[in-house]
Amino acid sequence: MIELRTPTEINEMRAAGKFVASVLEATSAAAAVGVNLLTLDRIAHDMIRKQGAESCYIDYHPSFGGSPFGKVICTSVNDAALHGLPHDYRLRDGDMISLDFAASVNGWVADSALTMIVGTPREEDLRLIEVTEFALEAGIAAAVVGGRMGDVSAAIGSVAHGAGLGVNTDFGGHGVGRTMHGDPHVPNDGRAKRGLPLRAGLVFAIEPWFMHTTDKIYTDKDGWTLRSKDGSRAVHVEHTVAITEDGPLVLTARG
Ligand code: MG
Repeated sequence: MIELRTPTEINEMRAAGKFVASVLEATSAAAAVGVNLLTLDRIAHDMIRKQGAESCYIDYHPSFGGSPFGKVICTSVNDAALHGLPHDYRLRDGDMISLDFAASVNGWVADSALTMIVGTPREEDLRLIEVTEFALEAGIAAAVVGGRMGDVSAAIGSVAHGAGLGVNTDFGGHGVGRTMHGDPHVPNDGRAKRGLPLRAGLVFAIEPWFMHTTDKIYTDKDGWTLRSKDGSRAVHVEHTVAITEDGPLVLTARG
């Protein structure tokens, strides 16, 4: 079911957005060569406790997950594209890591992700990050009253295709509200002027994720982490966005 939020509710959701942004700022600042993924999870967990927030991930157990996630942040390193389960791994020079975090504050959820390089970057990795961030911006720009969901999808997809990248449409954005995953689905590719009419009060996560040389994935033996089929690196970025009469409002905007 698609729910529309009132301006008052959207205002209430700002606290969750701000908190999620602050956790991504803290964990990305801590991510460096030699730092353990479990340390990043602990930093996020400490912030959740201090804030009195609720993790959307720790008890998360959907049909495709082997067991409850058990951690509060997704850390997807290199060929890991999505749902990277934090484990005992120390980041190495040149690693690409995406941090994906969702939490509930005062009953409202926000969801956001970023991708960064620790240590010395490879040129092609920086380019993939740039393209994926640009796709996110294009998707957000299309999230306006009077448009269609297909406009958002087409904006994201056309950036990918323009850069010669394939798009995996198995996972995309989603409605965000009292829970992390709701309607509508926000595909990362599609046709403009099609799909759900966009109205003020719609709140959803837009989350392009692209891989260097494939659009296929497989599930790691940990039961969670989704990796690129050919081992090429993946970038994932995400914001929770509210459609307002004044345009798209990025609830999870950082700094
Ligand atoms: Mg997310």
